[in-house]
Formats: sequence, C-alpha cells, structure tokens
Amino acid sequence: MNRFEYVRATTVADALRAKAADSRSRFIAGGTNLLDLMKYDVERPTTVVDISRLPLTDIEEGADGGLRIGALVSNSRLAYDERVQARFPLLSSAILAGASAQLRNAASTGGNLLQRTRCYYFYDTGTPCNKREPGTGCPAVEGVNRIHAILGTSDKCIATHPSDMCVALAALGATVHVEGPSGARDIPFAEFHRLPGDTPQVETTLKSDEIIVSVDLPAQDYGAHHTYLKLRDRQSYAFALVSVAAALKLDGGTVTEARIALGGVAHKPWRDESAEAALVGRTAGVDSFAAVADQILAPAVGRSENGFKIGLARKAIIRALSQAAAGTPQSQVDKRVQ
Ligand SMILES: Cc1cc2nc3c(=O)[nH]c(=O)nc-3n(C[C@H](O)[C@H](O)[C@H](O)COP(=O)(O)OP(=O)(O)OC[C@H]3O[C@@H](n4cnc5c(N)ncnc54)[C@H](O)[C@@H]3O)c2cc1C
Ligand code: SF4
Repeated sequence: MNRFEYVRATTVADALRAKAADSRSRFIAGGTNLLDLMKYDVERPTTVVDISRLPLTDIEEGADGGLRIGALVSNSRLAYDERVQARFPLLSSAILAGASAQLRNAASTGGNLLQRTRCYYFYDTGTPCNKREPGTGCPAVEGVNRIHAILGTSDKCIATHPSDMCVALAALGATVHVEGPSGARDIPFAEFHRLPGDTPQVETTLKSDEIIVSVDLPAQDYGAHHTYLKLRDRQSYAFALVSVAAALKLDGGTVTEARIALGGVAHKPWRDESAEAALVGRTAGVDSFAAVADQILAPAVGRSENGFKIGLARKAIIRALSQAAAGTPQSQVDKRVQ
C-alpha cells in the first residue's frame, strides 16, 4: 500500500473541498472495498477523505410516500429498518443476500453503489486490464470468464457489477441524489451505472468531484409479490453468478405491473423495461414468464466459460417470477416454488 494523506470531513462542503484539493483523492465510507483495492495496489489515492462522520445516516420519509436513504446508512441498518421491511421488502431481501453480517455492518449505501467489479484480472496488477489501465487490453474476453457478463458487453470489457442491493434499487426505480461544486442533481438509477463501451474505466455518471448524498425510493407497493433470487457457487458469502429482483402486481391471475432486474450478467444492474411491459396483461404463469425470459436474454452472448449463464438466467427469471406470483413472505434462502 502506498503512502497517503488522511483527511476527516464533518460536513458535505468540507468533503467536497477536500476532494477538489487533490485530483487523486478518494472518499472512504465503510472502507470494505476501497481498502482492499489499496492493498492490492489497484487504487493508489494520494489523499483519503474520510466521510464516515458526515450527517448522512438517516432514513427519512420522502414527500411522495417514498424513502430517502442517507449515503452513510449501513447495509445492515437499511435491511432491518422497519419501514424498508414493510414497504420495500425486495430491497431488504437483496441486501441480506449479499456479503456477511460483519461486512453489512460496515458497508454504506453510497459505497455499495460504487464498489468495483470482482473480475480476477482487475485485481491482478500483473495482468493487463482496460478498466484498471485503459488501452492495455482485456484478457477476460479470451481467458477465464466464468463469472463475466453476457449482456451489454464490449470487446474492451466484459466485467459485471457485483452488487445485490443495486439490482433491487434498479427494479424499484430509485434515484441517486448527488452534490458537487456546481450544485445538487438527481440521477435516475438506470442512468447511474454505465455499460463498458470503449471506456470501461468510466463506470458511472457520477463526476469525480461529486459525492452521493442519498438514494431516494419512490412509493411503490410490491410487498405482496416480490422475490430476490440469488444463484451463486456457495450458499453464503459469494457474489451472484446470476440474480433476479422480481416484483409483480396482479389482478386475479393477470399481471398489471412488472419489475425485473438482473445481477451478475452485465456491467450494470440489467433492467429491461420493454420486457416488463410485454408481461403486462398476460396470465401470471410459466409460459408468460418463459417468454419474457427469452425476450430479456435474446441479445445475450456467451464466451468460452460463461455460456452456461444464459440458460441459468432463463431458469432464474422464470423461477423468480413464479416465486413472486406465488406471494410472500418467503424464505431468504429457500427460493423453491412450492
Ligand atoms: C468478502 C466480501 C464479500 C462481499 N460480498 C458481497 C455480496 O455478496 N454482494 C454485494 O452486493 N456486495 C458484496 N460485497 C461488497 C460490499 O457490499 C461493498 O464493499 C460495500 O457495499 C462498499 O461500501 P463501503 O461503504 O465499504 O465502501 P468504501 O469501500 O468505503 O468505498 C467504495 C467506493 O465508493 C466511494 N464512495 C463511498 N461512499 C461514497 C459517497 N457517498 N459518494 C461518493 N463516493 C463514495 C469510495 O471512494 C470508493 O471508491 C462484499 C465485500 C467483501 C469484502
Ligand atoms: S473484463 Fe474488464 S475488468 Fe476484467 S480484465 Fe477485462 S477490462 Fe479488466
């Protein structure tokens, strides 16, 4: 790990000033990703700006019946908040499917959005990587790519976004509220994370001098019919190979509204609004769910080792929608359709 300056900010304005003073600085919140990256020599900030004491730790009622989640609310507190469990159980379920209890206690809402990919080459500074060092190449395209993306890739990068929480936030249509030297702005969740294109090192639409202040959830009631299904190599403490956040509104057996977002398959949480629209008006059942899975996965491309994800994602979408249609509450772990 390289030498760095440490600065502790107590207001958002202080944090922005400290960030602006050194173009190679980084904010640190829970530190569960940034410190690892510094230890691996992937990140080399010259100043670390500690934002963990900023007053962004509240979960407040939004004007429209939604919730405003401070950027420093821990993943644990968010998952166990009574309002989140009652009104946004899909979010609670997704958070609890991720990491471990200890990590969730430390990890913050803002940090979770900005955690970096788990691509092996990205963490290995002995190999090229377009995301870590632009222009050096992407060994994953022809190399070890079992955990890599099948949707929205480019020949420059096939990495996935690793978050569980963000898959639920994408399905729920959240908004990211940020502040910077030129003021505050809102970024719709679908526009926050980017596809790799020719610049995989640019992962979000957040500017380097901006800070995430909160994540806003619009009022939505998918409490009765939702599921977060996470498929991974072992039952706990593993990133998703494929995950699905599914939420439905039903009138009798007919779908009146649908939300479907996928994790582990793309550079960003993958939400397909045209597929959601195609489900509306159809009977909630395996035939409709299979058709929507085929629509979502039509553009999917498998590589040497990750082709299995296409079939896995198809089954996961069908199962998640079936589970959501069957109703909740349901087990965090056992997602079999009874
Ligand atoms: C062993 C292990 C297993 C894990 N398993 C999972 C899993 O299964 N699912 C999952 O979703 N996650 C998993 N995680 C990732 C974990 O959830 C993230 O590391 C965590 O959410 C990051 O939050 P943090 O507050 O610690 O971020 P930090 O490490 O402090 O920061 C991460 C990045 O965000 C930036 N940042 C932080 N806050 C802000 C802000 N408010 N504004 C602007 N920039 C900011 C930092 O500068 C840094 O670049 C795992 C992590 C580990 C170590
Ligand atoms: S997939 Fe992306 S992160 Fe992984 S080696 Fe290729 S460029 Fe780097």
